[in-house]
Amino acid sequence: MNRGIVVTGGGHGIGKQICVDFIKAGDKVCFIDIDDKRSVEFAKEYPNLFYFHGDISNPLTLKEFIEFAIEKMGRIDVLVNNACRGSKGILSSLSYEEFDYILSIGLKAPYELSRLCKDELIKNKGRIINIASSRAFQSEPDTEAYASAKGGIVALTHALAISLGPDVLVNCIAPGWINVTDQQELSYEDRAAIPAGKIGTPKDISDMVLFLCQQDFITGETITVDGGMNKRMIYHGDWNWYYREN
Ligand code: NAD
Repeated sequence: MNRGIVVTGGGHGIGKQICVDFIKAGDKVCFIDIDDKRSVEFAKEYPNLFYFHGDISNPLTLKEFIEFAIEKMGRIDVLVNNACRGSKGILSSLSYEEFDYILSIGLKAPYELSRLCKDELIKNKGRIINIASSRAFQSEPDTEAYASAKGGIVALTHALAISLGPDVLVNCIAPGWINVTDQQELSYEDRAAIPAGKIGTPKDISDMVLFLCQQDFITGETITVDGGMNKRMIYHGDWNWYYREN
């Protein structure tokens, strides 16, 4: 389609699949990643795929990345805020600085990139797609930083949708468990715990990203793509669900 697509964390996992699917749709894609080795290899695979090395927690890096993206693609139509990383929380005494770093990647960078891409996105009637997590809505212990970043990006999504509409439509995807490695051992129980009967794949998320980019009546929404995991009600002793003390 010859759009200019910007993706964060495109060197691996969900972000990599998003890059591939936009390339296959005929677009140009520019991605940033902190992992140089595998990103350099990936970028060699497609002529319309451009890689910029950097840490998205640094606002100067973000500015240089967007300048690079405009230089390479000539335009920006879609911004996909994908990169984030897991983290410990209060039970591990996660420090102020470490908490702040996760927010810088997962929340401040998506805001700053939206700001840097705003004029291009308005001009091109573009889209912003944010990647949150089902952990925006439910938690395991010791996950405060990641949950906060993901809760934040859900709110950032509707705020941006109201500010930038009707020119730019802004939506968010909240993935559940997505297997981004080939090595991971997946048990029968792992799959059975998920109502859809499988662990998600990067393609499950990427398909939703491209779907949202084709719609013109969905904005400000967060769509959970988790195989129904958050919909299961669990009572100890019912339907084979048992609580076990460690
Ligand atoms: P991944 O670790 O496979 O890939 C993330 C990519 O982002 C990597 O290439 C990494 O190098 C890059 N990255 C990390 N920190 C960066 C930084 N500071 N600057 C630049 N690049 C950086 O992760 P994934 O599983 O594909 O996750 C992608 C998104 O989906 C994340 O926002 C994650 O929180 C979300 N998510 C994933 C799952 C899952 O089960 N995999 C579930 C819910 C949400």
